[in-house]
Parts: sequence; C-alpha cells; structure tokens
Amino acid sequence: MNILVLNCGSSTLKFQLISTDSEKIENHSDQRLAHGQIERIGGAAIITLKAEGKSPKRSAEPVRDIKSAVEIVLRWIASDESGIEQVSSLSDIHAIGHRVVHGGEHFTESVLIDDEVLHGIEDCIDLAPLHNPANVAGINAIRNTLGKGVPQAAVFDTAFHQTLPEIAYLYALPYQFYRRHKIRRYGFHGTSHRYIAYRYRNMLNIPRENVKILTLHLGNGCSIAAIKDGKSFDTSMGLTPLEGLVMGTRSGDIDPAIFEFIAAKEGLSVQEAETLLNTQSGLLGISGLTNDMRELLAEAEENNDRRSKIAIEIFCYRVSKYIGAYLAAINGADAIVFSGGIGENSPYIRSLICERLNWLGVRLDKEKNEVQTNGNEGIISIDGSSINIYTIPTNEELLIARDTVRLIGS
Ligand code: AMP
Repeated sequence: MNILVLNCGSSTLKFQLISTDSEKIENHSDQRLAHGQIERIGGAAIITLKAEGKSPKRSAEPVRDIKSAVEIVLRWIASDESGIEQVSSLSDIHAIGHRVVHGGEHFTESVLIDDEVLHGIEDCIDLAPLHNPANVAGINAIRNTLGKGVPQAAVFDTAFHQTLPEIAYLYALPYQFYRRHKIRRYGFHGTSHRYIAYRYRNMLNIPRENVKILTLHLGNGCSIAAIKDGKSFDTSMGLTPLEGLVMGTRSGDIDPAIFEFIAAKEGLSVQEAETLLNTQSGLLGISGLTNDMRELLAEAEENNDRRSKIAIEIFCYRVSKYIGAYLAAINGADAIVFSGGIGENSPYIRSLICERLNWLGVRLDKEKNEVQTNGNEGIISIDGSSINIYTIPTNEELLIARDTVRLIGS
C-alpha cells in the first residue's frame, strides 16, 4: 500500500509517501517513495518535492492555504513529472496518515478518522490553537480531493504520553483548573518516543513490558521521556511544547513569573510574551545568532564565540539535569537513548551531556560515539557502563504509515 503521511503545520506542510503493508512491517522492508515540504504557506511559498533516487524539484509560488498546499502535493505525486514508479494516478494513494499535534485526554492511541474523530480533533483546538486547525484543514483537503472513501488515520503527538500517572501529569495548581480547563501535562513528540522505544526493544529482542529507558528527542524541538514497563511515565513538555529542555527557539522551563515581568518591562501583551518565549528564545535567544546547533558548534569552534558556547553549555546542562531527575522518577534505567537531529548526529553534544553522568558510572565509548554510530542505530557506551547509552534515529513518519496500515487492516 502507498501511504501518504502528512504533517500540516500553521505555515508548513511536510509529507512522505511510504510503501508499506503487514508483510513489509514484519520484514522491515517499508520503502520511502517520495518526500518534501511546502514552507511559508499563506505567502510566497517555497516548494521542495523529491522522489527517492531523483534530484529534488524546488520552486517558489504563492500558496494560499493548507488546502492548496495539499492539492499541489497530490498533483505532483500523481504526475508523470514526479517519476514515482509505484504511482500513476491519485487512486494509487491508498490511505493518508496525519500527524495530529493534540489529542487531549480523549485520544490515547491512533484512530481512523470519521466525523466523530474530526470533531474530537476540533475540540482540542483550545489546547493547540496553532496546530490543530492546520491538521483539520489537511484532513478536509484530502476529503475534498480524494473523497471520503480514502481512509485517513490520525496519529497523535500526545497519545503515547496518556499513560502518565497523576503525579507526573498534574500541575500544583488549584485542582479545579484541571477539572474545568483540562490544564495538565500532555507531552509531545509521543510518536518519536514510541518509535525509539520500539526500536530499542527490537534491537535487544525484549518484550515491551521490560523497557525501562530514558529517550531523548533532541532536534529543533527537544523533549525527554522516562519510559517504564514500556509506557511513558513522565515527559518534559507540558500543556504545550514550551516546557522542559532548552530548544532551538523555545526557552523550556522558566520561572512563570518571568512572563508578567517581560510583558511589563517590554510593553508586550501576554500573547506577545508567549510568542517571544516560543520563537525568540532557546539557543537563538542566548546566542543571538541562530537556533541551529550545527552553526552554533561551528561558531564556538571557529570564532570562539562566547554566547554560542554558553548556549551549547546551557543546552547540555539542562538535558543532564533532566536525566538525573528522570532516573529518580523511575528508579533508574537500563538505557538512555539519543535521537533527533542533534542527538543522532552530534558526538560532542552527547559527550558533554554524558560527562555529568560520570558519577553514576556512565561511560561513553569514545570511538563508538565519534565514529561508528554517527546517524546510525547502536550502542555508544563501554561494556562496563552502569547505564547503556544508544543512538537510535527517530522515524515518526514510518510509525504513522505503519499505524495507518494496521488501522485499515483491523
Ligand atoms: P531536527 O529538528 O530533528 O531535524 O533537528 C534539527 C537540529 O539538529 C538542528 O539544530 C541542527 O543543527 C541539528 N543537527 C543536525 N545535524 C547535526 C550535527 N551533525 N551536529 C550537530 N547538530 C546537528
């Protein structure tokens, strides 16, 4: 089956076309056929479309909304120009899997989309006002173009974390705010943490119940999850993705009183202060240069840039601190797994983070960390390390495609 995986954001649409079915899932022979993205939707958009093994096609044109963006992607996939052998018309796209950001407390797993599910996703707009409307627009765009007969599945960023116990998900606020407004920790990147935990137990050939690990998704957005008995027990993002680790442009944890303070001092509304914490803070805010870790590492090394260096150090310090806290939360762990653009690719960041775990008997294998697993799956700690350290590249799109196939099958 050819599954189109869509990740519709407020101004960006990312997609992958993946060929998979139950047999391919069993043999791990799923195949990506094409991928791409449309950025700056709502204005002069930049379109990147790429079939596997072919060179990417880049163009710029005005794209009004998510609906138009979805139509552009569908038209290209079905066209001769794309050169995707397995697809010659729209009927060769067999189902759609959507990455949906917020499923609230209602959605604890992936589901096939019908009218009731669509309303459920709309009900969560309050909790994710920027993201869920884009997801709904994507679902409707597919219905309009391909018809209601083409199955669509919703895979929620929050679903994996619905197993968090009360002690981890309740904030110490007046309890009625949870009852009235559902203010609680939801957590995000759930599909990524679930995929990493799944690859880990596959690699070790152990049952799900025996998985007791910390998973680190360190990309432009960053989060950590403590997984116990194969289930998410705690995670660093909260009601929104703003909480927790230092990220590319997000502050992560801060004293909540800073909100009001910034707003008063800078003459900003609460909304503007929140935007500042989401888009102008984190690595970008501290360095004053960039949210891109690769660029920061280059600045630090080539120009000895002080603020780049401190941004990198704060980033790693916060991760180590969370590791300490989460080891206490689940009474120790068998492994810590690095993932995401930074976690998968930067031996230096991994070593800075693990240095603070030396007291615990954690020891990286220098060579494995540097060379062997750069962007690959594997162990990077020495034999005698008290906790094994791994890198496992995440693949949320693959999990979304597989969930879609499973849901259609059932
Ligand atoms: P993601 O959001 O998972 O795509 O990750 C994006 C982040 O990963 C950016 O900050 C990149 O600079 C960072 N990244 C990618 N490759 C490397 C690398 N080789 N070393 C350090 N950071 C990297």
